Amino acid sequence: MKHLIHGYREFRATEWPKRRALFEELAARGQSPHTMVIACSDSRVDPTMIFNVGPGELFVVRNVANLVPPFMPDGEFHGTSAALEFGVTVLQVEDLIVLGHAMCGGIRALLDPSLAPPEFVVPWMRIADRARARALACDPVDPQTACEHEAVKVSLENLLTFPWIAERVADHRLRLHGASFDIRTGVLEMLKPDGDFAAA
Ligand SMILES: [Zn+2]
Repeated sequence: MKHLIHGYREFRATEWPKRRALFEELAARGQSPHTMVIACSDSRVDPTMIFNVGPGELFVVRNVANLVPPFMPDGEFHGTSAALEFGVTVLQVEDLIVLGHAMCGGIRALLDPSLAPPEFVVPWMRIADRARARALACDPVDPQTACEHEAVKVSLENLLTFPWIAERVADHRLRLHGASFDIRTGVLEMLKPDGDFAAA
């Protein structure tokens, strides 16, 4: 914790004065981020750093393996769905990115459930069962990467089960994107219409 407090003091002394005007403006007029990102909680995948943007630009939700659950308005505690509802219907973001990444521990656990904590992670990763089935059906050389990519596609499919997302995509108020960041090389790949990922 000492390290973090030290970091905060550095920020306060050197970064805050440079960003003060921006924060004051964002505080006065509220946030209006143009893009929402669904990223993994993994400490190596920070969307703000990857896209090199500042405060006020990205509305971010991070969870295990950057998964989007299907639309289930059942009154239960749906953190990711709540963030989606806020980002899409209130903030009215124009772009929504599902950002996967290489060497994802969640996806590793999906491929080998014995590696996963059983109480919440295993049931959560069931969202990506379809991704695992599809990835393994092709007998891939690299099952981990294939599964990471398929999981991004499953999340994009699930986004369209939310009626207020489907309707905004249909009338072009909202664009959906898939992406994958390779933490080994720093390369970002974007999902193309043909289903492959290619360097951005
Ligand atoms: Zn991950």
